Amino acid sequence: MITRSSALLQRAESTCAEVAPLALQSLWQTQLSRAIRDPRELCRRLGLDDSWLPGAEQGHALFEVRVPEAFLARMRHGDPADPLLRQVLPLAAEGVPLPGYVSDPLAEAEHTPGPGLIHKYAGRVLLIASPVCAVNCRYCFRRHFPYSDNSPSRAQWELTLDILRQDTTIHEAILSGGDPLAASDRQLGWLVERLEAIPHLKRLRIHTRLPVVIPDRVDDALVSWLGNTRLQRVMVLHINHAQEIDDAMVKACARLKRAGVTLLNQSVLLRGVNDSVEALAELSERLFEAGVLPYYLHVLDPVAGAAHFDVPDAEARELVAGLREILPGFLLPRLVREIPGEASKTPL
Ligand SMILES: *Cc1c(COP(=O)(O)O)cnc(C)c1O
Ligand code: SF4
Repeated sequence: MITRSSALLQRAESTCAEVAPLALQSLWQTQLSRAIRDPRELCRRLGLDDSWLPGAEQGHALFEVRVPEAFLARMRHGDPADPLLRQVLPLAAEGVPLPGYVSDPLAEAEHTPGPGLIHKYAGRVLLIASPVCAVNCRYCFRRHFPYSDNSPSRAQWELTLDILRQDTTIHEAILSGGDPLAASDRQLGWLVERLEAIPHLKRLRIHTRLPVVIPDRVDDALVSWLGNTRLQRVMVLHINHAQEIDDAMVKACARLKRAGVTLLNQSVLLRGVNDSVEALAELSERLFEAGVLPYYLHVLDPVAGAAHFDVPDAEARELVAGLREILPGFLLPRLVREIPGEASKTPL
């Protein structure tokens, strides 16, 4: 998840996206296509009273609702403060303009040497393997980009791959998006076969929220390309609250680990979701039980419509200081911000 170039993505869109006929869809694809996309249905299914509806519809008009059933099932019924629901429920506050909150907080079309490619940091490149997500998170900096549901075509990928083939300083390819695992296994298998043929590439990294929101995404077809590549594999999940980790998710993680994947997690610090030492500590503990190590804790990107999630820097530092007092060092995520133009994420 989390990649930041709209211009790039629009260029990378193609005319030959794969759409599997219904009968050939995997279970996860069916779940993805049946995700809730109607704010009225979201409110009804969670037993919210009608007072939430106008705000949900206003927010939805700005950035559409998308919530898979498997994620909805982990929310508490009738509780508008549920930490999972807060991440996906549109609010009227999203439409209130605030100084400093902009539609493209990380303005970054400058680092795009090829279609579907972002090269900002030394030794690693980001590949936009799918512009689509399985869940639409209200705090996402991508919320203002009107992506279509296409992925780059194979001809466009070949141009990008040529750049990787020629640049021997690149050792790691990061599949990002949108959510790269929203692409089909056929498409991903094709791409990884080409990546592993590049001798100087050592690692394949995947930034994804799909195994969290639809654990059935981790199926035989995924494991067959992911488990058999010569590249070392790292998956960076995106989980913000311990309640997101249910039995199905733990099983998916176990399966990924058996396929030789190192599992890490990045979170965003979000008001009303995980803005307490207790919530963050429980998240780290649950992650480790599932075989996942905390990696980054991002402060919010100042994207218009997400201001109600903001936690000030001073408070963020205090929270992490509190965490440090109660957790082993390896369960402490690194508190970072992304600053355009910097050579890495910036520690706070
Ligand atoms: C975040 C990011 C990466 C990965 O950074 P790490 O610190 O290695 O996790 C790579 N490329 C881009 C463009 C990024 O935004
Ligand atoms: S999974 Fe959520 S946070 Fe990640 S890119 Fe998609 S909408 Fe944004």
